[in-house]
Amino acid sequence: MGPTLLGVHGFDPEVAPLADAIVAYVLERIRSEAPLDGTASLSQLDALVGPTITAEGLGGLEALRRFAEVLAPATISQDFPRHLSFVPNAPTEASVLFDLVVSASSMFGGSWLEAAGAVYAENAALRWVADLVGLPEGAGGVFVSGGSAANLSALVAARHQAAQGRERPTRWRIAASDAAHSSIRMTASVMDIDVVSVPVDDRGRLTGEALEPVLSADTDKSIFAVVATAGTTNAGIVDNLRSVGQAAHAHGAWYHVDGAYGGAALASTRLRSLFDGIEQCDSFVVDPHKWFFAPFDCAALLYRDPAIARAAHTQKAEYLDAQTQRDEWNPSEYAYHLSRRARGLPFWFSLATHGTDAYRHAVDITVDVAFGAGDLIEQADHTELVRPVGLSVVLFRRVGWTKDDYEAWSNAMLEQQVCFVVPTTWLGETVLRFCVVNPRTSLDDIALILDTLK
Ligand SMILES: *Cc1c(COP(=O)(O)O)cnc(C)c1O
Repeated sequence: MGPTLLGVHGFDPEVAPLADAIVAYVLERIRSEAPLDGTASLSQLDALVGPTITAEGLGGLEALRRFAEVLAPATISQDFPRHLSFVPNAPTEASVLFDLVVSASSMFGGSWLEAAGAVYAENAALRWVADLVGLPEGAGGVFVSGGSAANLSALVAARHQAAQGRERPTRWRIAASDAAHSSIRMTASVMDIDVVSVPVDDRGRLTGEALEPVLSADTDKSIFAVVATAGTTNAGIVDNLRSVGQAAHAHGAWYHVDGAYGGAALASTRLRSLFDGIEQCDSFVVDPHKWFFAPFDCAALLYRDPAIARAAHTQKAEYLDAQTQRDEWNPSEYAYHLSRRARGLPFWFSLATHGTDAYRHAVDITVDVAFGAGDLIEQADHTELVRPVGLSVVLFRRVGWTKDDYEAWSNAMLEQQVCFVVPTTWLGETVLRFCVVNPRTSLDDIALILDTLK
């Protein structure tokens, strides 16, 4: 007898126990305190898991067992409350559960024709973000995989617009500060354009004042876009968005605001004023998978004038004519992609479930913990802040420690499952960094970590 048909919705009765096991696994995972877990070497995993892709198949229960017992423990949980490295992730239970629904529903999230209902819901969530920014009624966009994909898509649209009815300059350029995210330089490399580095002020911010002479000197108008950062990833610094936008527009440049991490603080009652002037932007990105409590991978990309993005990104192919020739909202046409998961839906479902006030409150809680952490660090004798808390990023030093001390401590804390906090660099000095995006991180957690630094 040959192999049986893959279970593509016959409903294979043998799937029932697997379904029960998977639902039980998921409920257990979101009901209990997230485990931190850790990492493993290739040889350890080779020894513990062995070959999983076989001609006959392991069977779902056995594959799940290997995942649960070996692979998952070798994978750090981003929602562990004392995971404060990089930018962690703290999805709501509603969003995680709905992610399963998105998978089960087999949706092609690229076109209105094929997914009107899903796209309608995603667009409602995008509208909430657009309102936080202050973008006008006609604004719109799409959920893409991350800030990197969003930055690339926005700048491709910007250049497409700039290239209309003019001769191509020797080199296209964009202006940004050195503190702009690494994905901006990566985008420039993919697009084969140059980045003009604009100096920051004494608070680390890009300002219109510094930008103005750079744009004035650009006689062939090769600088087609200015990128401001609304919350640098390393320090949480928000550029002077009003003056940067004014300078960009005075010179006819596109104004892109990268809020992949920090944009969520637009919802914070305490921090909103830092974003003054953001409403001038031509495009904007925020990652709900960073600080808006959605599962990976989810970035909200918005354009003031989506028609420009549509002109830049619509793919032309005979087999797509039935989609693209209709005057409807096709998410595929607003970024560099075609097929897409309706990845905004878990975020939409959670927003719809909890309401936007709960989102504001959750962001405020994390901000309070970050500022509270700053106070604890200042009060203790063995720690001091390196700079003021920026959004929810805390940079601080353990007095007297070297790079090796930080690394040894960080490795030991992960090993002992106490916390996941890795060192970073600030003005050439190795320091520690907390990035608080999880409303379940408490000041007690912070105090516990600071104690281990004594
Ligand atoms: C994280 C981040 C990015 C990249 O986003 P991904 O989702 O990781 O691709 C870009 N810009 C800023 C400011 C970020 O913090």
